[in-house]
Amino acid sequence: MKEFGLFINNEWVDAENGESFVTVNPATGESVSRLAKASAADVEKAAAAARQASAQWAALHPEERGRLMCEAARLIRERGEEFARVESAETGKTLHECRTIDIPFAVRAFEYYGKVMTGFQGEYIEVPQGGILDYVSYEPYGVVAVIAPWNFPIHLMTRDLCPALAAGNTIVAKASSKTPSTTSMMGEIIKDAGFPAGVINIVSGPGGTTGNAIMESRNVDVVAFTGSETVGRQLLKKSADAPVIKKLVLELGGKGAICVDKDADLDGAVNSALFGVCFNQGEVCCASSRAYVHEEIYDAFMEKLVKRFKMLKIGLPSDPATNIGTLIDAEALAKVEGYVQEAIADGAVALCGAKRYTEPPCDQGYFYEPTVLVNVREDMRAMKEEIFGPVLMVTKVKSLDEAIGYANNTDYGLGAAVWSENPKTLYRAGKLLKAGTVWQNYNVTSTPEAPYGGNKNSGFGREDGLHGLREFLCVKNNMQYVGPEYENFYGFKD
Ligand code: NAP
Repeated sequence: MKEFGLFINNEWVDAENGESFVTVNPATGESVSRLAKASAADVEKAAAAARQASAQWAALHPEERGRLMCEAARLIRERGEEFARVESAETGKTLHECRTIDIPFAVRAFEYYGKVMTGFQGEYIEVPQGGILDYVSYEPYGVVAVIAPWNFPIHLMTRDLCPALAAGNTIVAKASSKTPSTTSMMGEIIKDAGFPAGVINIVSGPGGTTGNAIMESRNVDVVAFTGSETVGRQLLKKSADAPVIKKLVLELGGKGAICVDKDADLDGAVNSALFGVCFNQGEVCCASSRAYVHEEIYDAFMEKLVKRFKMLKIGLPSDPATNIGTLIDAEALAKVEGYVQEAIADGAVALCGAKRYTEPPCDQGYFYEPTVLVNVREDMRAMKEEIFGPVLMVTKVKSLDEAIGYANNTDYGLGAAVWSENPKTLYRAGKLLKAGTVWQNYNVTSTPEAPYGGNKNSGFGREDGLHGLREFLCVKNNMQYVGPEYENFYGFKD
């Protein structure tokens, strides 16, 4: 079992009150790590350390910050297998996904932002009135807290931490208390890479105490939060009530959809529907849990889809043959099961799955069979809310426009996909679908170089790419009078 203190000022320290907690492998019930549980006082120490380090870090040339970030990337890559194993153990996702997606994304975030900030420049503005030198500079806010969820722990942590750091902010990082270990391992990397003390501080502990203390700290200027809509709304209220309003970047839930036109590449569309809702057991914010399929190809689509859903292998995350690991905990399993059972009671028909999977060696975890539901209606709860499990609901439509109308029929606005072989159709659908990302003959993927984020109840702000960097740069306009004599506006004379 790994042991982690709190990482404050480049030192590993115990919680002030000596409290700790243990994380559990959801597939097996075994303990993974013991971590210090940060109290409000510990969080304040971390935030004060970040504040203290802030001016010096901001004053470093971006190239120097970038050099340290690239060294961190190198060190994570070097320990990639260890990171992947810990990530898989705490999340229950397959080791294969951790090796090929989660850890490489974290490495790339350090590398990409380590390099991109050096090319980021201010602007000179030509103003109509003479005698004014006007220039815009981009400056760090100060201290950025990053609060991350459990479904992609190190990936979603570094997705905000890296641009904030590159921009010259110092950091207080809090991972989910279900999956904090890879974020704490990052503390070891930060120390080994040679970052100055206080630049990155890591506090572990539950949202209600540790997370709440972050929101209450006056030493935190910006909070980049990825998590549920419910907590996102709470943070909005907290920010509004705080003595000094905090800037928030909110990456919340989603209710993705895939629209399949009659001319779609059938194999591609089926595979993307499969991946869109089964990747990471469907515990993905932009998972496409609704599919709207043109009636002319519906039967052929469904035949392939159900066949492939049944081919998915459920198993222990460490088994290389496993496609579907375990859900995160008993509560998540009950929630997924509840949505499916309620939909079935309301007339939906399950073509596969719709039950727990308890075959040994999976009898100690929270496994759920990949499920396809038809005969669903737009007013069903499962069609409106985030299920966060491998459950796809399919509706037959008469046209792509009908599909797009349904896809947009949600209070979320994170991701939507469209499949067609006609580029004009793709372009039009791209315009009409209301989401932060529209995948065209593609699905449920992001890249560190391009913006990702949502609208409506999916939150606001963007991560990844230059847009992600800008979230952590404060825009400052500078006006310098360089004319011959400053105007005497009131006409006063001595
Ligand atoms: P969550 O319960 O909202 O928790 C997210 C983070 O916030 C965790 O670190 C949690 O800590 C912390 N937290 C909880 N209550 C808090 C409070 N009162 N003050 C401050 N922090 C608090 O979400 P989750 O269950 O971990 O993650 C799943 C959700 O994240 C889904 O809704 C999913 O769609 C969303 N998500 C969105 C994106 C995106 O990019 N839009 C990406 C991934 C996931 P503890 O866990 O330690 O309590």
